[in-house]
Amino acid sequence: MRSMKHGPVMDMDARSSALGNGLSRKPAANRLYQTSTMAALLDAVYDGDTTLDELLHHGNFGLGTFNALDGEMIVTDGVVRQFRAEGLAAEVPGSLKTPFACVTYFEPEKTLTLDRPHSRESFEALVDQLVGNPNLFAAMRFTGQFERVDTRTVFCQCKPYPPMLEVVKKQPTFTLNSVTGTMIGFRTPGYMQGINVAGYHLHFLTEDQKKGGHVTEYRLVRGLLEVATMSDLEIKLPRTEQFAQANLSPEHLHDAIREAEGG
Ligand SMILES: [Zn+2]
Repeated sequence: MRSMKHGPVMDMDARSSALGNGLSRKPAANRLYQTSTMAALLDAVYDGDTTLDELLHHGNFGLGTFNALDGEMIVTDGVVRQFRAEGLAAEVPGSLKTPFACVTYFEPEKTLTLDRPHSRESFEALVDQLVGNPNLFAAMRFTGQFERVDTRTVFCQCKPYPPMLEVVKKQPTFTLNSVTGTMIGFRTPGYMQGINVAGYHLHFLTEDQKKGGHVTEYRLVRGLLEVATMSDLEIKLPRTEQFAQANLSPEHLHDAIREAEGG
């Protein structure tokens, strides 16, 4: 399978030489780097001050969105892809900025070969079991065959920005049937709701790297599951006026995030 050719160690070596920045030490593995917060995104803080180039200094694996909420983001093997209309993937310049993204240098601690179908619920229960500690963040990657993946993307918004709950009501969703690809993302502990998305937040990229998006539902057939726990967390909060003005502890935050993220 494609992703099996790209071990995390290779990625880091490739990255060091590609950047030509003379990094002599490998970056720390399984350290979560996040820009802004989910609560800020929910309150329409759609413009961040972190560029993709900066983001990639902190990880080669992750997900997020782009300024003006212009599409869903997936980061695999150090490449940032943007899903816009029709869930089509495109590579983007490193100068673009993100209002919310989470990345890490993913190094699997445990792997499991799945050879029978799983619903979303049974798969998440399996990941929970494999990860163990429910109070740590976890990163995960599943590479394999899916019976079906439902994805969503978001569209570029114009100022004044509408709140995210209004935006997601109008978002297009796409169903990919009998598809092979990679689903990656994070599991956030419940006590971190609002900082991030409590529970699973997963994005998908087809094997041909042409389609994908934010995953809302799926049923998988077989493949390889890889997980790692994360206990080191760095959050870069935006120094923007929008963020300064945002209400980051609204009532019903939990319900709002569930509605916005389809978790
Ligand atoms: Zn997402």
